[in-house]
Amino acid sequence: MSKQVYLFGGTARSQDPRSRDKTIVGGKGANLAEMAGIGLPVPPGFTITTEECVRYLAEGGEFSDELKAEVAAALVHIETTVGKKFGDAADPLLVSVRSGARVSMPGMMDTVLNLGLNDVTVQGLATSSGDARFAWDSYRRFIQMYSDVVLGLDHHQFEDALEIAKEDSGYYADVEMQAEDWQVLVGQYNGIVEAALGHPFPQDVHEQLWGAIRAVFDSWDSDRAKVYRRLNDISGDWGTAVNVQAMVFGNMGDTSATGVAFTRDPATGEKAYYGEWLVNAQGEDVVAGIRTPQYLTKASRERAGAKPLSMEEAMPAAFGELAAVFELLEQQYRDMQDIEFTVERGHLWMLQTRSGKRTAKAALKMAVDMTHEGLIDERTAICRVDPMALDQLLHPTLDPEAARDVLGKGLPASPGAASGAIVLDADLAEKLAERGDAVILVRVETSPEDIHGMHAAKGILTARGGMTSHAAVVARGMGRPCVSGASSVSIDMASRTLKIGNRALKEGDLITLDGSTGEIMAGYVPTIEPELVGDFGVLMGWADRHRRMKVRTNAETPADCRTARQFGAEGVGLCRTEHMFFDAARIASVRQMILAEDDGNRRAALAKLLPEQRADFHAIFEVMAGLPVTVRLLDPPLHEFLPHADAEFAELSETIGIGVDTLKRRAAELHEFNPMLGHRGCRLGITFPEIYEMQARALFEAACDVAAQGGEAPVPEVMVPLVATRKELAILKALIDRTAEAVFSEKGARVAYHVGTMIELPRAALMAGEIAEVGEFFSFGTNDLTQTTLGVSRDDAARFLGPYVEQGIFPRDPFVSLDIEGVGQLVEMAVERGRATRPDIKLGICGEHGGDPASIAFCEKVGLDYVSASPYRVPIARLAAAQAALA
Ligand code: ADP
Ligand code: MG
Ligand code: MG
Repeated sequence: MSKQVYLFGGTARSQDPRSRDKTIVGGKGANLAEMAGIGLPVPPGFTITTEECVRYLAEGGEFSDELKAEVAAALVHIETTVGKKFGDAADPLLVSVRSGARVSMPGMMDTVLNLGLNDVTVQGLATSSGDARFAWDSYRRFIQMYSDVVLGLDHHQFEDALEIAKEDSGYYADVEMQAEDWQVLVGQYNGIVEAALGHPFPQDVHEQLWGAIRAVFDSWDSDRAKVYRRLNDISGDWGTAVNVQAMVFGNMGDTSATGVAFTRDPATGEKAYYGEWLVNAQGEDVVAGIRTPQYLTKASRERAGAKPLSMEEAMPAAFGELAAVFELLEQQYRDMQDIEFTVERGHLWMLQTRSGKRTAKAALKMAVDMTHEGLIDERTAICRVDPMALDQLLHPTLDPEAARDVLGKGLPASPGAASGAIVLDADLAEKLAERGDAVILVRVETSPEDIHGMHAAKGILTARGGMTSHAAVVARGMGRPCVSGASSVSIDMASRTLKIGNRALKEGDLITLDGSTGEIMAGYVPTIEPELVGDFGVLMGWADRHRRMKVRTNAETPADCRTARQFGAEGVGLCRTEHMFFDAARIASVRQMILAEDDGNRRAALAKLLPEQRADFHAIFEVMAGLPVTVRLLDPPLHEFLPHADAEFAELSETIGIGVDTLKRRAAELHEFNPMLGHRGCRLGITFPEIYEMQARALFEAACDVAAQGGEAPVPEVMVPLVATRKELAILKALIDRTAEAVFSEKGARVAYHVGTMIELPRAALMAGEIAEVGEFFSFGTNDLTQTTLGVSRDDAARFLGPYVEQGIFPRDPFVSLDIEGVGQLVEMAVERGRATRPDIKLGICGEHGGDPASIAFCEKVGLDYVSASPYRVPIARLAAAQAALA
């Protein structure tokens, strides 16, 4: 059996790599050993391994004899180093008992300080320290903590007793309590324990120690810990370590203190010490809010205009030592450290260090600064920044200082913040926005017909729909903040009013959305603008040097293409063409085309659409000069374009000269029970070849025209959606090639182009080998592929996906992060089979997953050539692709 207890501090210098291994001794234990190893002042102690915790829990809560022997020996190490004995009546050794898992984990047992005190040793401590007040203060802290975290008594009883004691003596603060006052309180505390448990507070110090060790182990299986693990993907098999450490005392009078500090500012990343401290205090006092902590440095105190002295001013010597420790720790860990320290009678002790949490802004600044300082290299810098955190920087965010009146909450569907007047339909949103008003479009849910209103709005709020609902996907694509699925929102269209929770509102009222948290707020909340220069640009440049995959964008307007290029997109991976048809001026021609009963009528409608569509492509090709642009031919079910209301039928009849009855009959004929599996995608191209022919013609004419203007030509990639068989693609590719040749001979010029398909049906993935005989590229449409593989409609999934994720059926929403096990297998298979047929086949992904770091890592693994993400996700994808390449 390997060692289960590791010593640190004093003369202990374990060569065993397990003594620094976080998986064995936990994060806290490993860092304490490491700090002691480089000669920093760490109170001596020992760590019981996580393995021992796992064994203890498996064996039904029994301590092994080996463990008892190892702990006894380890206690001797602390005793000899400190020169005091545990339980000694004259000069007792006190210890802290702390939990420490592999990763920092709220929900685990709270720390017990001052363990080893009892009715006898407290007297010894009073004598040996020469400070009776300190001894009794420590004892009352110990009884309260131990009773709370080990014995399971309610801590309020103890807090109440202290409050009453202070009131009775006319004191305001704890520091006014004298030795005798604490002693009286200890008597009361003992009474509380005895009344609750039927026996006195444990006086045997070894019983105290083993009770605390047991409580740490047991806390691994507490409900709190289990919930936290489930929410954070932490395995239940890891177990926690136990750290037992000699106490040092920050509560020994005015030359003693305790504090927490960061080696750099965790909010801004600025290279300046940052932290808080308190004179004559212990442990959690700094964070507990009982007293207001003081600033660490003179500069920060002055900036805040605070009076109480900083540590730099009040304890210059100890502060100087601390500053030297900061430098050493950054050299050692090559990262910003979050530190806990205590000063005992002028002497500095280190109690903890770990890599500190930081904002996205600080993460960027620190990664870039540390690289310039030579502390880390470029690769490390790239891997230090969480790609998703960049989201915080790419959109305007709410001023964190501003007050918020929160009305309700929905899903954080598209990040950023926006304020505006509530508007309940898309037409009005567009009208008011043209007038210059800021509006928030509020709908039960959105559909493609709302696009113009969504574009005009500053933000979008829906009562229904999940993270990949129409509203969410489109909003992310446009970079509009969006809160979706806010079930507390109910809309009454008749009176044009709404309720959010129990607050009544009406159209025109001002609200603010935070798309990063899902919060809906009343009134206007000020925002701050993103900065894409400086550190951001530097880090992106490094990421670009290290990634293999290209990053494209999903965009269908010149404006979105321009935004994406600014964010570094290297092409368009998905240009959807259906949105172009919803424009008010065109919808009549589109409807004529669909409802036409004969070819002539249909061709007349298409002839009207051709120049419009050509202009769309022309504008996009100009913006994307020199880069590949994947254009997807018409995809959605036809019924999405149909008129609904009588007035719409009447208007259409007027415009195109077909009777209302005929139109209605034709519309009824087109009705589908399950449109998403119906007459859509390439099935449209097969049945109405004129539509795809018109689109192909528009596209090639535009490409030739842009090329003829000089400068760089775009490289169109014509993409056929929803292909299941080789034959479908073969028929449509022939049509596209024929159209291209026709255009080239008319124009007397050619442009390079490719024809390929989306892989978004399981059959297409299975038959990828055959399909690649025809298709020159594959783009994985993982939204539909997920939908069709799982048999789950993403527009209806919101209702059950939550519980599915909570119960661990899916680790994450499969529409947000690719189901690698299942859908991923199909992708991998299609990649292999496609490449076997056509070794140089171009492979990319254009589903929402193209902007998700975990999915991007998978794309790197299976060797895709590029990922395509919505414009605002392009920087995230660039960084994630670099991290995936470096992994
Ligand atoms: P957390 O992980 O919640 O920060 P810790 O185990 O680090 O819990 O300890 C909580 C508090 O107790 C910290 O403020 C720490 O500085 C203090 N503390 C822990 N061990 C000792 C010790 N040996 N001497 C003095 N203070 C200690
Ligand atoms: Mg701590
Ligand atoms: Mg699709």
